[in-house]
Amino acid sequence: MAKKINLNFLLVIAISIFLTVFSTAVVSYQLFKQEVFSDLSSFAEMTDNLNLTEQMKDQGIIMPENELRITWIAGDGSVLYDSYTKDAALDNHSERPEIMQARKNGEGSCIRRSQTTGQDIFFYARTMEDGTFLRIAKEAGNIWNIYRNALPVTVLITVLSFAFCLWIASRLTKAFVRPIEQMAGNLSQPEQMNTYKELMPFISLIHSQHEEMIKHAKIRQEFTANVSHELKTPLASISGYSELIATGMASKKEARHFAAKIHDNAQRLLTLINDILQLSELDAASGQNLSIEPVDLYELAAHCMETMEPVAEKHGISLSLEGTSLKLYADKTLMEEMLCNLCDNAIRYNKKGGHVWISVTDRLTVRDDGIGIPQKHQKRVFERFFRVDKSRSKKTGGTGLGLAIVKHIAEVHHADISLDSEENIGTAFCVRFPDSALIRS
Ligand code: ADP
Repeated sequence: MAKKINLNFLLVIAISIFLTVFSTAVVSYQLFKQEVFSDLSSFAEMTDNLNLTEQMKDQGIIMPENELRITWIAGDGSVLYDSYTKDAALDNHSERPEIMQARKNGEGSCIRRSQTTGQDIFFYARTMEDGTFLRIAKEAGNIWNIYRNALPVTVLITVLSFAFCLWIASRLTKAFVRPIEQMAGNLSQPEQMNTYKELMPFISLIHSQHEEMIKHAKIRQEFTANVSHELKTPLASISGYSELIATGMASKKEARHFAAKIHDNAQRLLTLINDILQLSELDAASGQNLSIEPVDLYELAAHCMETMEPVAEKHGISLSLEGTSLKLYADKTLMEEMLCNLCDNAIRYNKKGGHVWISVTDRLTVRDDGIGIPQKHQKRVFERFFRVDKSRSKKTGGTGLGLAIVKHIAEVHHADISLDSEENIGTAFCVRFPDSALIRS
């Protein structure tokens, strides 16, 4: 970045120096021209006022060639007097641009390149009262001569200013880049950063993304540790019981009992792995791989109730469904999963003779009059592997992932899930779908 900024500075400096030198040359040559013509005009006026031309002609004065040249030209263009030559047979001057201009406007000027010296000759002519023309000429350097002479100094000044600007540019670049470098090394404390205010939104964004990444890494790490721990317990049981059977240490009766234990633990492992897979699928899907279709939540709830009925009966719990048809765009399998998870919990965390009410209105509510969730734990029940009562959860086949899956399903459908619970009174989970998902007939 610093290299690029330096290169850009260099380019800007080079262009500015070139433009400055060039425009100074043009402007100063224009000023020089103006100055020369203004001198020639003043001299012509003085010569005219003092009748110098006539006197010089009469006295036959010839001036050296580096002096001003005075020419007196008759109205027809013939040369009456020229201070450079005695030879009166000079060409007719009526076609000379400065004379033509003077004839038209009273005065005229022109610059011509001298063949012999290569210098510019500045001509200034004015019409006199008697209709003759007075022309003053001066040989002076042209723009290239002037600049050729000034070239060594110009080059020296250019090189020095270039070097100076380069030094300033590199200091500026360093000063410009320093806060950005400091920012890169100090991302964790953006409030302590002394950087450009324009960069603050960018820094805050990076900072929040940085924090988010750390949070996610921590969650993943905790999840992996929890998964390993959850898998270890049933595996250890399976290994222990099967060893007892394999070594013949268990009697025939015990072997059957141990085999049942192995079966239970294997089932538990399967449930756990299923839940983990489901969560990771939901993580990956994030709304993209869903198969969204029109579903009737009331119908799904009725189907779920049918499925759960035997389990409820076994626990002495009665199930009931109320409400009306609610059609919406959703993933049918995930909706069933959500309904069954909520119903399953409402049955498992209930008391004998308890009730579970499923209600479908413009929202879905699963309510029970079971053991309830203590206030202090209500915030955490949607966390992965969080259980209020670990042994009760395990005894009833819970994995601690059910509500995490429910919450995830709600999220991928942009639905909102809330919980209302009181210990020993009951719990209600309520899912509200966004208006955009509802199909109104
Ligand atoms: P689990 O597999 O342990 O049931 P969940 O994620 O489904 O895991 O639920 C997390 C915890 O929330 C449960 O362990 C339980 O303590 C509590 N819980 C969930 N649903 C209910 C409910 N309907 N009534 C009382 N407690 C509940």
